Amino acid sequence: MERLSPHLTVAEFLATSHREFVTEQERVWYGSRVLQAEARRFAASVFEPIRALVGPIYVSSGFRCEALNKAVGGAQRSHHRLSLALDGTPMEMSVREALFLISHAMRRGELPFVDKAIDEFRGRWLHIQAAEVGTKPECVALSTADGVVFAEVA
Ligand SMILES: [Zn+2]
Repeated sequence: MERLSPHLTVAEFLATSHREFVTEQERVWYGSRVLQAEARRFAASVFEPIRALVGPIYVSSGFRCEALNKAVGGAQRSHHRLSLALDGTPMEMSVREALFLISHAMRRGELPFVDKAIDEFRGRWLHIQAAEVGTKPECVALSTADGVVFAEVA
């Protein structure tokens, strides 16, 4: 099984329930050394430290090719397109509890490479992302009620 990091497989990172995009997802991702390298950077510096904090995470969406991102209504500049984001639900706690732990760890300086962690749609899923190359990670934990309005988690 091909892995990006000890607890994240390539299959999980490319998976989609939109069958019409399965082939395109693999074509684009395997065709780009940059996307593959960015996925490994994301997995090692963002996914694994968060997993160590909140336990196993069920992955619902990682990389998205442009066509898939458009189909699922993702943001135009979504980090999912860059292999730098993942949506998932923690298996051992709620999204809100996970975000609480993440925000506190951020304030202790323990998650230096996490750009954003977001509680999407009042606890439906957790979005985590790494910063783009050459960009300083923001290290913020946010929650959103309607997908648009964000509030920083205190
Ligand atoms: Zn997301």
